[in-house]
Amino acid sequence: MVFQEKNGLRYFQFANFQGLPIFHAVLTRRGGVSQPPFDTLNTGGTVGDDPQAVLENHQHIYNTFGYPFASRFDVWQVHGNYVMCTDKPRTIRTPHPKADGILTNTPGVTLFMRFADCVPILLVDPEHKAIGIVHAGWQGTYKRIAQQAVEKMTVCFGTKPETLLAGIGPSICQSCYQVGSEVFQAFTAAFGDAAQRYFMQNDGDWYLDLWKANADVLRQAGVRQIETAGICTACNLADWYSHRGEKGKTGRFAVLMCIEDN
Ligand SMILES: [Zn+2]
Repeated sequence: MVFQEKNGLRYFQFANFQGLPIFHAVLTRRGGVSQPPFDTLNTGGTVGDDPQAVLENHQHIYNTFGYPFASRFDVWQVHGNYVMCTDKPRTIRTPHPKADGILTNTPGVTLFMRFADCVPILLVDPEHKAIGIVHAGWQGTYKRIAQQAVEKMTVCFGTKPETLLAGIGPSICQSCYQVGSEVFQAFTAAFGDAAQRYFMQNDGDWYLDLWKANADVLRQAGVRQIETAGICTACNLADWYSHRGEKGKTGRFAVLMCIEDN
């Protein structure tokens, strides 16, 4: 795990992706203009923050990394398992499509997603120069969205899962993530007895390990090279937004990814 800093923006990059012709950044909440409780680099437009501040934050991110804001492709993240492939940016007049995974092999398209506890999963196919970002909360995880993304990359780009590189980004850790019994039941229905691997019980409460569950989903889809950041959003509020850690009153941090033009 590697933290970088540029123009006041602090961001995380996966070690496994270094040296590849792609750019990626998991932005922390530092370096933006939003006021508390959205301080400061909030990129969520539906959380109650000032829209002008959110726009400035987006522009600051794009300007800092040298990509046109108009190259952005983003979606309305709905906790499903639909993954879409794009070969062009979303124009400002186009409504956000609903999806929780986005893929491209087109240079000049910057994939963009927002997070606050849910798991960002970044995918790189170095052989076919294709990339993807997945948004996996507990629902996306038991609906196996990571597997959906791998399968779609196979269909769209000819990706071989065994050569794919995956990164499991900053998100809520098991100790911070108490869940209800309905979550345990959903996982048991989806994974059978194996679901017990993802839960610990403490004083009758369930705690879910999203990192382990998503790593298993990726491995079952044939992915072998998985790097887990191991950084908890709720444990590290100076760097990250945490829906759980801040009782719902918070912003969204950004994940940005693109293929370098050459
Ligand atoms: Zn934690």
